[in-house]
Amino acid sequence: MLPTLPFDPSHVLIGGTWRGASDTQPLINPSNGETLCHIARSSQVDVDTAVTAAQDALDGAWGRMTALERGRCLTQLGQLVLDHTDILTTLETLDVGKPVTQARADTIALARYCEFYGGAADKVHGETIPYLDDYTVYTLREPHGVTGHIVPWNYPMQIIGRSVGAALAMGNACVLKPAEDACLTALMFAYLAKEAGFPDGALNVVPGLGSEAGAALARHPGVHHLSFTGSVQTGRTIQTLAAENVTPVTLELGGKSPQIVFDDADLDDALPFLVNAGLQNAGQTCSAASRILIQRGVYDLVAQRMADAYRAKTLGPASNDPDIGPLISVKQKARLESLLQTAQDLPCIAATPMPGDLPPEGAYVQPRLYGPVPPDHPLAQDELFGPVQVLIPFDTEEDAVRIANGTIYGLVAGVWTRDGARQMRLAKALKCGQVFLNNYGAGGGVELPFGGTGQSGHGREKGFEALYGFSTLKTVAAKHG
Ligand code: NAD
Repeated sequence: MLPTLPFDPSHVLIGGTWRGASDTQPLINPSNGETLCHIARSSQVDVDTAVTAAQDALDGAWGRMTALERGRCLTQLGQLVLDHTDILTTLETLDVGKPVTQARADTIALARYCEFYGGAADKVHGETIPYLDDYTVYTLREPHGVTGHIVPWNYPMQIIGRSVGAALAMGNACVLKPAEDACLTALMFAYLAKEAGFPDGALNVVPGLGSEAGAALARHPGVHHLSFTGSVQTGRTIQTLAAENVTPVTLELGGKSPQIVFDDADLDDALPFLVNAGLQNAGQTCSAASRILIQRGVYDLVAQRMADAYRAKTLGPASNDPDIGPLISVKQKARLESLLQTAQDLPCIAATPMPGDLPPEGAYVQPRLYGPVPPDHPLAQDELFGPVQVLIPFDTEEDAVRIANGTIYGLVAGVWTRDGARQMRLAKALKCGQVFLNNYGAGGGVELPFGGTGQSGHGREKGFEALYGFSTLKTVAAKHG
């Protein structure tokens, strides 16, 4: 059951006021198929009102705040997130079907984003540029203005933290469109932002359908920057809609990320990363390590140890805190099952046991490990977004690089080898936004710039780099006397 909330979850937050939206829709708990509550189904009108409120905030109290004051608001918000860890964790567990431990980690990460960007807000500055003798030239970092944030359902808190956190630090006013499948933590975050002292309209939240509220935000002429995380297909649509107004867009579109295991790797170190980076959040992670490339000499050993790990994992309702919960929805379950039709010719070498008492309306999918899989097989090419990994054997370093770079994506890669020179060669050769050497993910690291190449998207979020993305540079050239 949903805990008591300090706001009506069917409302939107616009200009500091909770109000009814044009319509509502049910929000489903994917662990059992029950309706948790009704949420807003915002329309074009709601989005228009939110964009106007954001612009009003920029023209008013929010726009007048100093960087120091913005930073203090964010730091205070981080503390409030920590103070409300239990409720935020419960909401994410119910709404996303995310096991309690993983939902709690996301809550802590959200607080950390607020702390990081709170501390960074007054540390971004321009430069002076040597020019002609009778000139002084300097640059100013300024907010874009109104920023739109279209967020998916897989990591709502982390993605809000990294995009809204950085945008607020730079003084933008945000309109946040959370996913229709999971928006409760976005609403709770906005409630806490108001408590933390953000002026009315600095952060507005309009839940709704992608094709309605999302599209209205993407094509809105009053939005000056868009941040989107989600599927390639929707990313293309958003970039096309934004192009009408030449609105800059940051796109983070997932991937088919490899971990590469060489014969000389420390397998004890590697194993938990190989498996968990594929199964975390039931595989619904943009940076999921869904392809494991294994050098021939250790292939059988790694395959056997990963298979054992799959059999030892637990699966069940998210509130029971298993290793793996349900997918976000029965729609995503049907999508994954249809993609797995192409796997009938492949050896499935292990599966996690399915308990007999799973709620029948839950969106559960059996985690499966396939191998060996040809690198060009659809299962080794398409983003599945579920608890499925493929094992791909390789012979030489050149083969590994060619296979790793051989998809349309390029988000993250992991390399396991004790050979330092090889580590450096691969770090250069792999086409992606992050490379992890003898680890994978570095524990999330809010400080680490993140984003893709190829059809994984463009632009960087997280770390200091995001502050440049959420601001624009003005050059001032002053001629003396
Ligand atoms: P999606 O990309 O359609 O949805 C993500 C967000 O975009 C949601 O807030 C949604 O409401 C919004 N949206 C959808 N259509 C829109 C439109 N026309 N204009 C503006 N906004 C729109 O993702 P999905 O349909 O929920 O999931 C489908 C697949 O997307 C998944 O199976 C997975 O492969 C991928 N996905 C990737 C990520 C990631 O982190 N990279 C996250 C979620 C989904």
